[in-house]
Amino acid sequence: AGTLYIVATPIGNLGDITARALAVLTQVDVIACEDTRHTQKLLSAFAIKNKTLSMHDHNERQRQDYIAQLLQEGQSIALVSDAGTPLISDPGFHLVRHCRSLGLPISPLPGACAAIAALSVAGLPTDRFSFEGFLPSKSGARQSTLLALADEPRTMVFYDAPRRAIDTIKDIVSTMGRERYIVIARELTKTFETIYSDTAENLVTWLEEDANQLKGEMVLIIEGYKAKPDEISAEVINTLTLLLAEMK
Ligand code: SAM
Repeated sequence: AGTLYIVATPIGNLGDITARALAVLTQVDVIACEDTRHTQKLLSAFAIKNKTLSMHDHNERQRQDYIAQLLQEGQSIALVSDAGTPLISDPGFHLVRHCRSLGLPISPLPGACAAIAALSVAGLPTDRFSFEGFLPSKSGARQSTLLALADEPRTMVFYDAPRRAIDTIKDIVSTMGRERYIVIARELTKTFETIYSDTAENLVTWLEEDANQLKGEMVLIIEGYKAKPDEISAEVINTLTLLLAEMK
């Protein structure tokens, strides 16, 4: 059978493509991608001519049988997403699970990943961390998610849309406290790369004063909960605070 290569691509700066990624994208029979036009731009930047096949969140389950069949016929296939590492808040999980269950060869080509790039410059503990992906877009659901993480001791990594950042950080203030330390990593590897950190409360002010910080793409990193001796847990305090607010 052919091999399914899971290929990481840049998260902004094209210089971050790897030599192996270029070789594999040139050599495989087909490139399965999230958005064929987006991937065509990447391929043409490196003068690679190859066939593409779309595979996104909405057709992944139908596509997995077809792709598995091509692999069984001996074709080799690369999976890429629009940016970074496939499967990390991107399509590919169902395909990889299906191919693994069929015993087909799968090989990773590591490279850029926004979460890991952000963690590498955040200056928060990285010995253990928790990747939380995207927060819910509705405030109620977002607050419940954050409240459930209020006592999480590990560094937490989130993907977020900058236009939502002020609302998200206000929700962090109300669920994890205004002193919670946060790192914002925006536009990584691109012209307006910004890495900025402060307490949740100060970040709200900073974002409100500079609309430029609400553009592009960002990773939010929240410091883990640090228990102080004899202290009532953050979750208890925050639940009581929310209850009090409801009673007003
Ligand atoms: N698979 C990708 C990866 O490996 O990072 C992530 C895909 S996810 C759909 C897109 C999210 O990743 C964005 O909303 C943002 O949170 C984050 N992201 C992607 N590129 C970024 C960049 N250059 N700077 C900061 N965050 C980025």
